[in-house]
Amino acid sequence: MLIKDGIRMDGRKPDELRPIKIEAGVLYRADGSCYLEWGGNKIMAAVYGPREALPRHIQDPTKAIVNARYNMASFSVEERKRPGPDRRSTEISKVTSEALESVIFTELFPRTTIDVCIEVLDAEAGTRCAGITAAAVALADAGIPMRDLPVACAAGKIDGTVVLDLSSEEDKEGEADLPVAIAPRNEEILLLQMDGHLTYKEFEEALDLAIKGCKEVAKLQRKALLNKYKTFEVE
Ligand code: ADP
Repeated sequence: MLIKDGIRMDGRKPDELRPIKIEAGVLYRADGSCYLEWGGNKIMAAVYGPREALPRHIQDPTKAIVNARYNMASFSVEERKRPGPDRRSTEISKVTSEALESVIFTELFPRTTIDVCIEVLDAEAGTRCAGITAAAVALADAGIPMRDLPVACAAGKIDGTVVLDLSSEEDKEGEADLPVAIAPRNEEILLLQMDGHLTYKEFEEALDLAIKGCKEVAKLQRKALLNKYKTFEVE
């Protein structure tokens, strides 16, 4: 049983996020970076660029190429993960690149690449959302012009109840997981995936809940950036 009397196994209410900590600008050598903890997830994101795209034949004369690479450390899961890319990380890298590219003013930087490295150091479900959220802060820290700061959060269904931000157990045993990334200002959807089954009504409820979650996380992203760039502490 994953939820009893409206309370989940980790004590959360259906619409409650796991604890989140975000820190901007943590790496010295990257142009922009972010360290993020989200429940049991620990993620480092680093941005390099815009820099000349090499070899030259990959250059786009009209815009920058956004190249996000999602990678899980071999020690990030219980059983050692074989290092290097696999089908899952290739998929997540692709959808992350597309989500980020759609908010970046890429046409300002023709013939360049903007490289976004997302390293999952500890994984506990929801890593693609945590990765996009961290990458967005790292892009802002690198001074990359964007029309909004993207943010992501998942909703899902456990024991017939639509809930926000699945834990690892809920992800494994639950009925559905719906990761969503948005540009919060106009709620434009940048990424929408679904694992499992939802009725149309449940889907709408889960999407609404995920968007609400995104907006809460967006506040923490802004706080992290303000803490880095303001000379006083932001509550
Ligand atoms: P997301 O992390 O975005 O929710 P998935 O739904 O594919 O993506 O994965 C859910 C969780 O399953 C991950 O966050 C991680 O905790 C776990 N997981 C993913 N890949 C592996 C793996 N190779 N070995 C063990 N656990 C994994």
